[in-house]
Amino acid sequence: MLILVLNAGSSSLKYQLMNPKDGQVKATGLCERIGIDGRLVHEVENKKTKKDISMPSHKEAIEIFLDILANGEEKVIDSIEEIQAIGHRVVHGGEYFSSSVVVNEDVIEKLESLIPLAPLHNPANIMGVKIAQQIMPGKPNVAVFDTAFHQTMEASNFMYAVPYEDYKDHGVRKYGFHGTSHYYVSNEAKKMLNKDDSKVIVCHLGNGSSVCAVKDGKSIDTSMGLTPLEGLVMGTRSGDIDAGVLSYLMDKKDMSAQETVNYLNKKSGLLGVSGISSDLREIIEASENGDERAKTTIDMKCNRIKKYICSYAGVLEGVDAICFTAGIGENADLIREKVCSGLEFMGVEIDSEKNKIRNDENREINKESSKTKIYVIPTNEEFVIANDTYNLVKA
Ligand code: ADP
Repeated sequence: MLILVLNAGSSSLKYQLMNPKDGQVKATGLCERIGIDGRLVHEVENKKTKKDISMPSHKEAIEIFLDILANGEEKVIDSIEEIQAIGHRVVHGGEYFSSSVVVNEDVIEKLESLIPLAPLHNPANIMGVKIAQQIMPGKPNVAVFDTAFHQTMEASNFMYAVPYEDYKDHGVRKYGFHGTSHYYVSNEAKKMLNKDDSKVIVCHLGNGSSVCAVKDGKSIDTSMGLTPLEGLVMGTRSGDIDAGVLSYLMDKKDMSAQETVNYLNKKSGLLGVSGISSDLREIIEASENGDERAKTTIDMKCNRIKKYICSYAGVLEGVDAICFTAGIGENADLIREKVCSGLEFMGVEIDSEKNKIRNDENREINKESSKTKIYVIPTNEEFVIANDTYNLVKA
């Protein structure tokens, strides 16, 4: 029983072959520079193989790694037939999808109609599905959406305060992203808390970052919006900003609306403020060497997270656990310490020693006396995708 998890981007493709029941990973990999030249990183049991190999399109990329899985030196399956189904990460499910679905013609049509809401992501995700259908005919494909978990938000939290017609006619509302991760982490936290009526705040801090307020397992509010640009200060995204900045920048820098949005998505955030990098590690290093701008960048990142935690504690009317996940959340003890310090007034007491311990396990990093738990929970979106896929296709 194996599920192939695919995450297709415009010039990249991540894959993972997984047992959906126990989460055991048989092989994982990344195809990059598709349509340019082609580069493959394939990993089996922590052993990485890197190859430059021609990938004119996503079709060749999939064919190449399937061949390696079934016929390579370190083959992990005897034949492609061992793959039962394919689970696809799909970024935008709009209001159509509040859970994962088996892909059929109607689903494809709906995904295509959502392209204006996710012009960078949905076309690549749809292409991934179509190529998988072509290369592995007869095998079911399942779409797992970044937005689905947040479909439980109420109108009072997902509406923007613009004329109502813009929501009705054009779908202008908050959708939220990273839903698969927020679901996985909040569910793990629920198990750790061992109570059903849980109030959990999940901080998914990677290159893209978002916070989610989860009550009794349901997303109540989240920081990303119509697009992933809203909310926290991210690697290259500004996060929350006065919309007036757009027209001001367009005027001052002679940029079009699209160029300005690109500027806020690709040139801003940690990269734009620090002038160093979008990679937090480099900014921390610079700050330790006395770079003031780097220090301000880190403080901005942490203050924004703190503001969201406090506002979501208000929305939830209390908080049982604050969870940290993804590249920064799982690894950057400095960020966790800065975010939690000063929140003692709401029962949040971080244990500095426990916070420094590093491992890949779910762990508790609060003091014994802390009313609110603080957890580090490594996310596992692929496991959710494989699991949903299995549950939808099993006979
Ligand atoms: P993506 O959104 O691309 O999946 P990740 O979840 O991999 O991102 O997170 C990438 C971020 O995690 C980068 O900013 C990187 O600097 C940061 N990161 C990874 N390890 C550490 C670490 N030890 N200390 C600080 N930041 C880290």
